[in-house]
Amino acid sequence: MGLIRNLNELREHFPALKQVINGRKIVYFDNGATTQKPLCVTSLVNMMNEGINGNIHRAVHELSARSTELYEGARERVRKFINAQYPEEIIFTSGTTAGLNLLASSFGGKFLNEGDSVLLTEAEHHSNIVPWQMVCERRGAKLKVMPVDEDGIWRFDLIERYLTPDVKIVSVAHISNVLGLVNPVEEIVSAAHKKGIPVILDGAQGIVHEKVDVRKLGCDFYLFSGHKLYGPTGTGVLYGKKALLENMPPWLGGGDMVDTVTFEKTTYAALPLKFEAGTPNFIGAAGMGEAINFTESVSEEFLRNHEKALTGQMLEGLGKIDGLRIYGTGKGKIPLFSFSVEGIHPTDLAMLLDKMGIAVRSGMMCAEPLIRRFGCHGLLRASLAMYNTSEEIDYFLKSLQRAVKMLT
Ligand code: PMP
Repeated sequence: MGLIRNLNELREHFPALKQVINGRKIVYFDNGATTQKPLCVTSLVNMMNEGINGNIHRAVHELSARSTELYEGARERVRKFINAQYPEEIIFTSGTTAGLNLLASSFGGKFLNEGDSVLLTEAEHHSNIVPWQMVCERRGAKLKVMPVDEDGIWRFDLIERYLTPDVKIVSVAHISNVLGLVNPVEEIVSAAHKKGIPVILDGAQGIVHEKVDVRKLGCDFYLFSGHKLYGPTGTGVLYGKKALLENMPPWLGGGDMVDTVTFEKTTYAALPLKFEAGTPNFIGAAGMGEAINFTESVSEEFLRNHEKALTGQMLEGLGKIDGLRIYGTGKGKIPLFSFSVEGIHPTDLAMLLDKMGIAVRSGMMCAEPLIRRFGCHGLLRASLAMYNTSEEIDYFLKSLQRAVKMLT
């Protein structure tokens, strides 16, 4: 496949964008929640379901060998994509949430003790709060929370106050799913590492909009989900530095994660299988590898310019609507916009927009502490992907204005 350099060509790969919803060609602005899939991904998944299907790693037969090759090929694909040093640093998971639970249980379970803390920020997704809360409860540790300012920007000026000796883990979002701002993650890695504290980056949104190089970021762990990156649902990646992963106990026990098993004692498989118990979603993982191939077939220059143009157009248009407040403004803004409109419930707006063929998200967006920090009970979010167009934004803005009028 040659490089994709224009929008019409790009959209041709996504049949979902041609759907008619409520009598209108869909305007899909809920990409922060999940993205649509290109044909190469659905074809590979279908081909595997139709026959390139044998359980991986276990059998000597040809179908098992072909599935294993696609699965391990996807691991190598992911390794290159994020510039990890070794393929065994790539653990396939069912998504960011699963990866964070693995880390909280395994890493947190081993290294957190009574009186220790886990440092988060106020702008985390529930997936990066609740697993830590659960392990803290078990281990007698607690959460520490670095605040954000009125614009949603990290109060990084306070970092030294938060990186106290009791902090044993820092776990923060690369890009918040509400604010759409690229956080100063290299800076927090550097500050934490000076004190010997490992850093986890929740890259569920970051992997989609930033070029991620885990070695350049210097993070100890990086997590993302395949379905937000044009890949299948139920797929994801936990990247971890080899030495750290080797020093962690397994999370789930079962087939494929063992070396030898007796009733007296089990020894575990080497990385990465130690963390991949049971039959993994091998078809999904191969599909995620294909999605990565696809994103890399889109010209980087086109992508950068296009996302910048979409962001500018949305900010300008939203800025003209009376009573509308955007949460998360500043440099490094991706095309993801959470906002409120004075006197109007976001769910009412989202429902009216749906009737007009526009898909947006409303509510707490799995970030209740952040939404409450802004004094809100919910927000509306429009999150765009590389396949969205300027015409769709025009239609969205006009429809939003119409909906606001109907509700005031
Ligand atoms: N973290 C962030 C920043 C997210 O945006 C999301 C998904 N909305 C998650 C974690 C959880 O991802 P998943 O539901 O795919 O596990």
